[in-house]
Amino acid sequence: MSRLTAPKGTYDIVPPESNRWVAVRDALLQPARLAGYSYVEAPVLEDTSLFERGVGASTDVVTKEMYTFADRGGRSVTMRPEGTAGVVRLVAEHGLERGPLPLKLWYAGPMFRYERPQAGRFRQFQQVGIEALGVDDPALDAEVVALGSRAFAGLGLTGVTLLLTSLGDPACRPAYTESLRSYLAGLPLPDEDTRRRVELNPLRVLDDKRPDVQEMVAGAPTLVDVLCAGCKEHYDAVRGYLTDLGIAWTAAPRLVRGLDYYQRTTFEWQHAGLGAQSAVGGGGRYDGLSESIGGPPLPGIGWALGTERILLALAAEQAGPEAPHRVEVFVVPLGTEAKRRAVGIVDAVRRAGTNADLAYGDRGMKGAMRAAGSSGARRAVILGERDLAAGVAQVKDLATGEQQAVALDHLIEELTQQ
Ligand code: AMP
Repeated sequence: MSRLTAPKGTYDIVPPESNRWVAVRDALLQPARLAGYSYVEAPVLEDTSLFERGVGASTDVVTKEMYTFADRGGRSVTMRPEGTAGVVRLVAEHGLERGPLPLKLWYAGPMFRYERPQAGRFRQFQQVGIEALGVDDPALDAEVVALGSRAFAGLGLTGVTLLLTSLGDPACRPAYTESLRSYLAGLPLPDEDTRRRVELNPLRVLDDKRPDVQEMVAGAPTLVDVLCAGCKEHYDAVRGYLTDLGIAWTAAPRLVRGLDYYQRTTFEWQHAGLGAQSAVGGGGRYDGLSESIGGPPLPGIGWALGTERILLALAAEQAGPEAPHRVEVFVVPLGTEAKRRAVGIVDAVRRAGTNADLAYGDRGMKGAMRAAGSSGARRAVILGERDLAAGVAQVKDLATGEQQAVALDHLIEELTQQ
């Protein structure tokens, strides 16, 4: 029978990399935890209309990439392609907006997009994200952006660039969109798809990566030049706070993100060492999103970071946390009586809060010491029959090879003190 593998575009997270993976995910969220963000978890499956109405019917994510199917009850459900729409739905459903504001929330988990898999692009991928809702204050925009930049810095990444712009709001964007549309209509755009995009969402044409299109749109008007007074003031304030915080950014007036709900502050982090899939995270303000999915008026801003690409960036820079030690203490029993004692010792060491493991499988001294070595443990405890009779165990430092006899009465204390 043919051997089954993980579906195309998905992958397994396995040891030892999986331990590093958890350490990276936790480190990314640490700055947000210190800023008072609380954990939320929405289901992976949502009503399809949440994303159609929330993410935007003209986006590639909604039109081409969603895992949508009818469940056995005939309802159209979708495996979430992103996290924000679900969090905003959850806030309204639980009336969280009636509590203290801003609401500060974080989430982590898998997202699903039917994209063409390539390096750094998967069909199931992991994001960590934060959302700050209920207060429209440029200082909060700056906090959210800064927490992302601090997350990268906390991992030791130095090659991350922050691209920042304002996408305006319903007061100033429509007029700009019209002027951009007429500008683009006069260009010899290469294909029907692109011309359709001019009608649906002309901003997206500015984001076309093809060099000939880039050249064609080089003279197109930009939104930051025609922001209304309110949006300009907001954007200036955000940049002021970021400067005060010492966060460097690059103005990116043509930055367009793949989700339609953004307005005003919009940003993306890119890493130079990743090739085509250079975005390691992104986000922005989404003040109209809650109302578009039937919720109360609720301004919001947030980001999502892509864990896989961050791991690739860490590998490119040879930075990031070590995989944590799987065990500190590895116990090697030699003989039946020793094994009985060893089971109790391992349990006691663990209860005292130190990682410990045991050489299972009665492999003899050589095999057991090999297991001790590959466990990554710092110390091995060797329990031989003669030592047991003398009331001691041999404690061996696996880095230096030094070995000393420790009285069984003091063993747990000796193994668990720092
Ligand atoms: P988005 O939800 O599109 O704003 O994406 C936020 C971040 O998620 C991106 O900057 C990427 O790091 C990551 N990401 C998005 N799509 C994928 C994908 N298909 N595979 C891996 N990472 C992704």
